[in-house]
Amino acid sequence: LYKNINKKMQIVDQFERKINYLRVSVTDRCDLRCLYCMKEKMTFLPREDILSLEELERMCDNFINLGVNKIRLTGGEPLVRKDLIKLIRNLNLKKNISNLKEITLTTNGSLLKRFAKELKDAGVNRINVSLDTISDSKYKEITRFGNIENVFLGINEAIKVGIKVKINFVAIKNFNEDELVSIISWGNNIGVDITFIEIMPMEETDNDRHMQFLPLNEVYNNLDKKFSFYKIDKNTGGPAKYFKSNKISINVGFITPITNNFCANCNRVRLSSTGKLYMCLGQNDYVDFRNILRNDHSDDYIKEKIRSAINIKAKKHDFIIEKNVKPYITRHMNVTGG
Ligand code: SAM
Ligand code: SF4
Repeated sequence: LYKNINKKMQIVDQFERKINYLRVSVTDRCDLRCLYCMKEKMTFLPREDILSLEELERMCDNFINLGVNKIRLTGGEPLVRKDLIKLIRNLNLKKNISNLKEITLTTNGSLLKRFAKELKDAGVNRINVSLDTISDSKYKEITRFGNIENVFLGINEAIKVGIKVKINFVAIKNFNEDELVSIISWGNNIGVDITFIEIMPMEETDNDRHMQFLPLNEVYNNLDKKFSFYKIDKNTGGPAKYFKSNKISINVGFITPITNNFCANCNRVRLSSTGKLYMCLGQNDYVDFRNILRNDHSDDYIKEKIRSAINIKAKKHDFIIEKNVKPYITRHMNVTGG
């Protein structure tokens, strides 16, 4: 498949943004129910609609052929998908013979202890683990029933087997505002970078988003008083801006979709577990590839469809977090992943 690959091939959208990063939600299911992500009672997508391993791999292949060099597997919780390791192994084989340079994962960490070694062996060298508190009881509260000990064990195991871990910490008003310094100290002690993320209004949950929203420009200003941050050039291909401080050895990142829009530099698109390609996390439009995959179309046809989808990628999201404003995004975060 890669024999005739043109490594210079690159998909570019109408705003001249190079798309070289694909995020794949391998399942919408999850073993947790984080308050800002899902409702307590969720209806998940029918199993027959979920793309098979072969279908997912074929989509990845076509994206790689079009210049994608980084793939992030996400969900839902990617580690609850049975054949995930096999998919990673198959993708990893393409690393030296195609555009693909990195396969990474966003996980809640609950099953990480069990899978860390397999992930490393399959070719994953960096992962993001989501952790919004280091308090046992608060972790139960925000995830509705998670056990933080499993996440700590998972992180330790990942570090032990040589995977670089970064923490995703969603900043939530009246919940973890008092832990911003302590999560940085905790990360610094074990050598993992911390990235703060602003809440986004993805579909309605059981809690109002405007009650949860904590603007990260304020968070940054407060933390800067203590840490005297200086900006660094580090770029992991995602939207985070990274800072260092002479008081700590880790990097601290900020992802600010609401207070500091980064859409002008967007380089990514997202594939849902049922084959819907979302060109923007903050828009509802998609192109559905499931029927295309299941109707015997050629790879050239798929590539053409990908190109035309990327051509209509929106200039930016229009997220609004205000009282009495319903989220205009009609899917929960687990459909397209982070
Ligand atoms: N289950 C995995 C996890 O939690 O890491 C992967 C999927 S999860 C949807 C990906 C990331 O999105 C997590 O870091 C999570 O905290 C974040 N997230 C979920 N809902 C969000 C929201 N409404 N706003 C901002 N981040 C959100
Ligand atoms: Fe599951 Fe991740 Fe959503 Fe939490 S944020 S409910 S762990 S998909």
